[in-house]
Amino acid sequence: MNVERRVRLTEGDTMESGLRCPECGTYTTFSDIITTGQCRRGGGRGSCEARLRVDVVVENRPE
Ligand SMILES: [Zn+2]
Repeated sequence: MNVERRVRLTEGDTMESGLRCPECGTYTTFSDIITTGQCRRGGGRGSCEARLRVDVVVENRPE
């Protein structure tokens, strides 16, 4: 079963241009997450099974 969990990032979660994987804690850059859909320990390189993506939420406020 596919379980989706959303994590809202705050300033403390980001370091330089990446973040710590909410599943395993490995630091991964945003560009790697966008390119591979996983953290640096994901896929064939490690044991993390989390699938990651980065969404940007746009809020249009009424004038
Ligand atoms: Zn991970």
